[in-house]
Amino acid sequence: MDLNGLKVTVVGAGIGGLTAALVLRARGAKVTVLEQANAITEVGAGLQVSPNGMAVLRSLGLETELRQKAVRGQAVELRDYARGRLVSRLQLTTLGEAAPYYFVHRADLIDVLANAARNAGIKILLLQKVEDVVPGDRPKVVLARGQEMKADLVVGADGLHSVLRKTLNGTVAPFFTRQVAWRATVPNTMGHGPVAKVHMGPHRHVVSYPLRGGSLVNIVAVQERSGWHEEGWHIPDDPENLQRCFSDFQGETKTLLGAVDSVRKWGLFRHPVAPVWQRDNTALLGDAAHPTLPFMAQGAVMAMEDAWVLGDALAKAEDINVGLAQYQARRQDRVKKVVETASKNAWRYHLSAPPLRFAAHLGLTMASTLAPK
Ligand code: FAD
Repeated sequence: MDLNGLKVTVVGAGIGGLTAALVLRARGAKVTVLEQANAITEVGAGLQVSPNGMAVLRSLGLETELRQKAVRGQAVELRDYARGRLVSRLQLTTLGEAAPYYFVHRADLIDVLANAARNAGIKILLLQKVEDVVPGDRPKVVLARGQEMKADLVVGADGLHSVLRKTLNGTVAPFFTRQVAWRATVPNTMGHGPVAKVHMGPHRHVVSYPLRGGSLVNIVAVQERSGWHEEGWHIPDDPENLQRCFSDFQGETKTLLGAVDSVRKWGLFRHPVAPVWQRDNTALLGDAAHPTLPFMAQGAVMAMEDAWVLGDALAKAEDINVGLAQYQARRQDRVKKVVETASKNAWRYHLSAPPLRFAAHLGLTMASTLAPK
């Protein structure tokens, strides 16, 4: 179908929502993005963007701009926590220029997407909390202040607590994954190279990689916990709690964690992959459809892939709802595989006995999922 002039409302100006807005605008749609926050920001610092995500950014003409702000990743290394011994290494450069892997600051990626959206004539409206989305021939968005807006298509890219997810799949609270993550950045005084390192220990792991020309190191430290009762999603914590929790991690992890002077922690929650992604001119995208543990570094990248496939499926279909059904059919198996692999990585990374940890990693499963699509 011809998307020219199609009126699209996207709920959420995260990485998924902005990418979807750009993809649909590039095909001629008139797009408005509604964001509840008072600014377009991203919480947490680093993001790994694998070649499949870079391919989407390239299709939007944004790759060069992002590359200037990013660090080109050379490898992902899995290491043991005690002495930093290498367990396995996935070389990221074998596919060459056609399939680059980058470490980016989330704020930089969001800036690139939001600036491109504004330049493309996409309206981004802030402080617009959506209360409800009503599917139909002309689906309706109901804002918190009571105002209503109609469109030809509504895309719910509103993350874990998606309003449209509830409409399409019923109201179910997200479940705690028994994983808590601390996130911090520190100056790169220890010469951390362009490699993502995963240091694995019993019931915990630490991921580090450089950002912004290598001037910063991004740290994500994960611990298994039986419960999470604290209020909020990104709570400031005392760096000493982090350092104490990982006190048996040696070598460069110790140095990195010792340099942390400000840190936030998250209880990681998710839903199963939604059974229903679309109905009557509405569709879910990104975390709204398939929140995942971050242990494949694919959540944002899957949202970008969703956006590209959504545009392609609509353009190839005879009408919106056929296109939306095709979109779900083309995406659901792939995201299920990624979500499952990320959950298994939690188990693999955190095995107690070092020999088991080593054995679990002999067949590193990342390569196939990271291949560009
Ligand atoms: P979100 O980022 O949640 O965006 C949703 C947007 O919708 C927000 O702006 C929100 O304010 C807005 N919104 C919500 N509700 C409403 C409403 N009712 N009305 C209006 N607006 C609303 N992914 C990777 O690809 N690579 C990585 O390296 C990586 N590392 C990660 C590390 C950690 C520790 C974590 C927790 C996640 C990581 N991820 C990674 C996953 C990634 O962050 C998410 O999958 C991604 O941000 C999801 O994007 P999204 O646009 O779908 O949703």
